[in-house]
Amino acid sequence: MEKTLVLIKPDAFSKGHLGDILKRYEDEGFKVIAAKVMQMDERLAATHYAEHIGRPYYEKLVEFMTSGPIMALILGGKNVINRVREINGATNPANAEEGTIRKLYAESGSKNAVHASDSPESAKREIAIFFSELEQFGG
Ligand code: ADP
Ligand code: MG
Repeated sequence: MEKTLVLIKPDAFSKGHLGDILKRYEDEGFKVIAAKVMQMDERLAATHYAEHIGRPYYEKLVEFMTSGPIMALILGGKNVINRVREINGATNPANAEEGTIRKLYAESGSKNAVHASDSPESAKREIAIFFSELEQFGG
């Protein structure tokens, strides 16, 4: 089964949108293979966002991602990597299509509610950052 890593970011978490967001993914038929509530530290953020180190928004991104609890998820299903990115919508909610998670719940191009892996390679890398094999079910 194809798998992807999703993070429900601190903005959506603190506003109480965990249930809304999970329901969207479950309604699409995707399975929750792993889930945990946690708080990222700077080191974890740097590992996860390694390709963004040095970009102008990087410091703010780390500050935001470590500012409060998140929910990390592995979702599984057919075409889950591309489909979840479609459901999430464009990085900046101003450009996101109606009905997407970012259009509904994101407040800015930085505080944008959700993360999802963008390719099979990044899904594999990101899943291994957040979850051990023992924490994964039904994948
Ligand atoms: P996505 O999360 O849609 O895959 P990117 O991989 O390009 O987007 O960026 C990772 C995260 O970094 C974004 O979700 C967002 O939180 C932040 N980010 C990206 N570009 C910007 C920007 N121009 N200004 C502020 N934050 C940004
Ligand atoms: Mg990305």
